[in-house]
Amino acid sequence: MAARTIPVDAFDLVIFGATGDLALRKILPALYRRFLAGQMPADAQIVGAARSALDDAAYRARAREALGDRVAGDKRDPAILDAFLDLLFYVRIDATGEAGWDALCDRLRPGRVHAFYFSVAPGLFAPLAERLHAHGLAGPEARIVIEKPFGHDLASARALNATLAQHFDEGQVYRIDHYLGKETVQNLMAIRFANMLFEPLWNAHYVDHVQITVAETVGVDGRGPYYDGSGAMRDMVQNHLMQLLCLIAMEPPARFEPDAVRDEKVKVIRALDPIAPADIVRGQYAAAGGRPGYLDAVEDPGSRTESFVALKVHVSNWRWAGTPFYLRTGKRLRARVSEIAVIFKDPPHSIFGDGARRGNELVIRVQPDEGITMRVTIKEPGPGGMRLIEVPLDMSFAEALGDAGADIPDAYERLLMDVIRGNQTLFMRGDEVEAAWAWTDPVIAGWDARGDRPVAYESGGAGPEEALALMHRDGRRWRAMEG
Ligand code: NAP
Repeated sequence: MAARTIPVDAFDLVIFGATGDLALRKILPALYRRFLAGQMPADAQIVGAARSALDDAAYRARAREALGDRVAGDKRDPAILDAFLDLLFYVRIDATGEAGWDALCDRLRPGRVHAFYFSVAPGLFAPLAERLHAHGLAGPEARIVIEKPFGHDLASARALNATLAQHFDEGQVYRIDHYLGKETVQNLMAIRFANMLFEPLWNAHYVDHVQITVAETVGVDGRGPYYDGSGAMRDMVQNHLMQLLCLIAMEPPARFEPDAVRDEKVKVIRALDPIAPADIVRGQYAAAGGRPGYLDAVEDPGSRTESFVALKVHVSNWRWAGTPFYLRTGKRLRARVSEIAVIFKDPPHSIFGDGARRGNELVIRVQPDEGITMRVTIKEPGPGGMRLIEVPLDMSFAEALGDAGADIPDAYERLLMDVIRGNQTLFMRGDEVEAAWAWTDPVIAGWDARGDRPVAYESGGAGPEEALALMHRDGRRWRAMEG
């Protein structure tokens, strides 16, 4: 089964921060793969913009090198690569000054979509929006793509939204959360709203609880100073885990359209209960086995920033009242795994004896090995009475979909093409980001006010003991953390 791609119209895409890590490691490879898939018109134009002294040829050479590192050998067709590199141009520009803006205006062609990707430090988002407007580049053909983090708290997110709104309509602003571009995450909506099987059970009557895990094996390493000003609550929970929670908890939108979907997501965030201190655990990984601990990787030896968070939250509405959502995320954990597990209640009565009352589990694996597993109870084969066992009904997308499943596009591929098409469904709206900060801020303010320190946890484990206790005290347990 071949993946179906719908070509997009001709466009000019400007990547601000074109010499940076994200541009070279994610954005250019994603564009190349879309080009390879035949989705990009031959007269598309990709303009790299940064302060480094490069010309078109030097930038193409840098892009070639980056693609060599990031694109699998069987996808590196030399003729196609050359044709792709021909679409690339470079403009030397300063986001905070006047240098380069006239050259950029000259490079862009009228009558096409102009997409501007802000792949620069967050402090440059507002100056870039202002300069685009000042140079007449904020017309209806313009779209701006804003990377994370979108603000540091509610006040800064509001200020950034207000600045963007001075120069662009909300319909031109694409706030990216790459989790929403992942196939399995979109599949969550397909599973819920294109099947009859799950939705009748998708509520507090039948769902005991939901677990969302985003675990990483890496530490903060080279990103220590940046990360230390942020922490897991801001860097992961406020955006990625919140988005996953929204897709699980939201009501069915009337249509799969940007505002219909985003309206429902905002309602979920606004229905979240505040978090009591007893319902949240934060941790910091300790040094172990010669590997540095969190405090060795950051500048402040007394840092109270968390590299791990586990929490319990309730969505206070008719559908979910009484069903807790447990979220956890952290660094230097046992496995690299992102998954959502919907744990159903036990059957109300067992005809097989008490030990047989086991709830079903629906597990949506976001990474690695994207797919879905349903745990069901069956009879253990063989004579000797009715013994029950639990087995997984496992659907790996790679296996189920053959070639098309083995070649799942990277999140950035999907999201970049959505920007060109003008489809905001998988991007966060301004009010959504603000609602998420409004929920997150009091938690962080509470830690600061109490001077709480994160608890230390062992690298390579499942996080602090206190996180396990958060579940145990409710008579539940986290799923095993397996990659
Ligand atoms: P980076 O490697 O530090 O790159 C920053 C880019 O900005 C460079 O190309 C730099 O090039 C350019 N730049 C700096 N000052 C500039 C100025 N005054 N005018 C014009 N260009 C300027 O950062 P990054 O890791 O790519 O991250 C970019 C953005 O994506 C950040 O907001 C980050 O939070 C977000 N993000 C990154 C990742 C990731 O995996 N890297 C993941 C999620 C989100 P010159 O020095 O040549 O100007």
